[in-house]
Amino acid sequence: MSFQLPKLPYAYDALEPHIDARTMEIHHTKHHNGYTTNLNNAIADTNLDAKSIGDILENLDMNNAAVRNNGGGYYNHDVFWKVMSPNGGGEPKGALAQAINEAFGSYENFKDTFSKAAATRFGSGWAWLCVHKGGKVEVCSTPNQDNPLMPDVGCSGIPVLGLDVWEHAYYLNYQNRRPDYINAFFNVINWDYVSERFENNK
Ligand code: MN
Repeated sequence: MSFQLPKLPYAYDALEPHIDARTMEIHHTKHHNGYTTNLNNAIADTNLDAKSIGDILENLDMNNAAVRNNGGGYYNHDVFWKVMSPNGGGEPKGALAQAINEAFGSYENFKDTFSKAAATRFGSGWAWLCVHKGGKVEVCSTPNQDNPLMPDVGCSGIPVLGLDVWEHAYYLNYQNRRPDYINAFFNVINWDYVSERFENNK
């Protein structure tokens, strides 16, 4: 079995002006495509071949750099495309809003905490909002293509929201202004989909 590059749920230019079409196209057709191909090559003819991506990452041998980097890259970008929408923005509602208020005090405090996690990740990596069994949420950050599903990354739970802070995600439009890119991301967050992930994993 091999993994397929997922289609974007919107056009490359759909997230403009927050995320530009050229960045989206290169990010999807080159970067995500590369992780997908390299993951398939890394698991071909191994005992990982028939497993789901969740299974592969949760039981990962962290010394297996090819699967760690490319399996992470495959999964993380799939989450990333889906948590964004041209109709996104605003604030979370319902049970997710309540869980965010319980963990952070308010949506604004959550936004600050998440933005700080994204801004202070040195080099390349991701910021996450994760849910634990029972419904508690937390913010954390991982380096490179690691993610909270992997063992012992200092960050656990199921990711419900993820932000890519590799330079390839923003450099064409924002150059070194990562904080501007982080701010813009909040205008395209698909909270309906994030809520769905929260409900399915709490
Ligand atoms: Mn990326």
